[in-house]
Amino acid sequence: MTHPIQEVLQRIGVNDHPVAVAVGNTWQAGAGEALTGKSPIDGSTLVTLTQATPSDVDTVVATARSAFQTWRNVPAPRRGEFVRLIGNALREHKADLAAIVSWEAGKITQEALGEVQEMIDICDFAVGQSRQLYGKTIASERPGHRLMEQWHPLGPVGVISAFNFPVAVWSWNAMLAFVCGDPVVWKPSEKTPLCAIACQQIVNNVARDFPEAPDGISSLLIGGADVGQALAAHPDLPLISATGSVPMGRAVASTVAGRLGLSLLELGGNNAMIVTESADLEMTVRSALFSAVGTCGQRCTSLRRLIVHDSIADKLLTSLKKAYEKLPIGNPLDEGTLVGPLIDQRSLDAMQTALRTAEEQGGTVHFGNPIMQDVPAGGCYVHPAIVEMPGQTEIVQQETFAPILYVIRYTELDEAIALHNGVPQGLSSSIMTNDIRQAEQFLTPAGSDCGIANVNVGPSGAEIGGAFGGEKETGGGRESGSDAWKAYMRRATNTINYSTELPLAQGIKFDL
Ligand code: NAD
Repeated sequence: MTHPIQEVLQRIGVNDHPVAVAVGNTWQAGAGEALTGKSPIDGSTLVTLTQATPSDVDTVVATARSAFQTWRNVPAPRRGEFVRLIGNALREHKADLAAIVSWEAGKITQEALGEVQEMIDICDFAVGQSRQLYGKTIASERPGHRLMEQWHPLGPVGVISAFNFPVAVWSWNAMLAFVCGDPVVWKPSEKTPLCAIACQQIVNNVARDFPEAPDGISSLLIGGADVGQALAAHPDLPLISATGSVPMGRAVASTVAGRLGLSLLELGGNNAMIVTESADLEMTVRSALFSAVGTCGQRCTSLRRLIVHDSIADKLLTSLKKAYEKLPIGNPLDEGTLVGPLIDQRSLDAMQTALRTAEEQGGTVHFGNPIMQDVPAGGCYVHPAIVEMPGQTEIVQQETFAPILYVIRYTELDEAIALHNGVPQGLSSSIMTNDIRQAEQFLTPAGSDCGIANVNVGPSGAEIGGAFGGEKETGGGRESGSDAWKAYMRRATNTINYSTELPLAQGIKFDL
């Protein structure tokens, strides 16, 4: 019997026997070991393919390099038109791509559709950006001179991505890179190969009918960490954008730094919400719930630490536990399900180990058990956990990529902010309060130390318009909106002398 995902793939134009490497428009098998892609929903086999190896990397990068020679000279608004057409194709295949995301990453349909919508949004953003790749004109200190800066295409960009946003993260990078004049070589997570194959096919479909798009504007290598390392080491990829865990970021960053390349890092988070005594508790429960259990706690921005004022902690915990009791957990494709499966058994084991460690460190665990009944067999389903902690112990300072919400009490806001910032990661953060002074304090230089700081909005669920990323071990990179496009271009400062004199800067005299 054919798997239901086959029909979806066919509608996008993916071949019956997908392969791991796309050298531009040409699909070919990798030279590596076999990879079997299984669905976290029910363990069913989705695809079997031969993975890429580091030996496949040179050909792909050479094709991207040659694509760069022509794409960089295509006017940026025309490059924007290419991205506009990709956005249209994504609109057409929104439900198809979302279904693949659900089958491979286990997301509920609503969140999978939201992820594809995010791709469409970044396409729209990038189209506008293609007419706004501005440089500055700067007052020259020399008479008869003009000083200005231009932004030029950087070169082919290597993108390494994680399983939990299997299509959106690539699009944040790729759509900006395309309008900036850069081809993209993508190494997705080996846990979500079909999502990547579908995206590559969508770009190929658009590129086929777009005369200026060179072969190799977009390429794909499905493989493991060794392929990621080969990209990181490649001298013809000036920028490596890597999204994933902190250990992966360290490994990639040191390889890229070894050749003095550029890296854009989007790594793990350990996101918190401070709930003050004046907070709207009903809103707090709703936003904490979405942030903590959405995507089964497998978002980089998932809420992991709730830092609650002592005076309201009991009341908030009672409401939160009531909400957790009612959570519809199960098949993510069923309407009404809010919590789907974890990605695999390793994640489930890591969650259970973290819960036992939390208990050893003085925590009281509510829920958190694996679920065997009324869920599809073959998937790793769990009841999201709430853990009351006596303080911010070692386990609370780690990112366990599963739905565990640690609750810590505080009495003074300064203490809450110190707890908030007292972890190695710095991605997303929020404060729930109706006290304007406390809200503002949270946003000052002495407040949240994260890349994202929200007021009366949970830490999860960012819009594409803002720059996305975080500080400390999260890696410091920024993607998506605002001026994140600058990472994909190189800045040239130009001095133009339109006079007949040759004055030197700083008034230096150097005449014979
Ligand atoms: P992961 O680090 O295991 O893998 C991510 C990618 O890196 C995969 O493609 C993998 O093959 C590759 N990789 C792994 N080790 C490598 C190495 N040594 N060299 C080169 N490439 C290597 O992460 P995951 O389990 O897929 O995703 C979960 C993690 O990603 C969490 O820590 C989460 O917070 C983080 N994440 C961060 C963001 C963000 O924007 N900050 C977004 C999504 C996920």
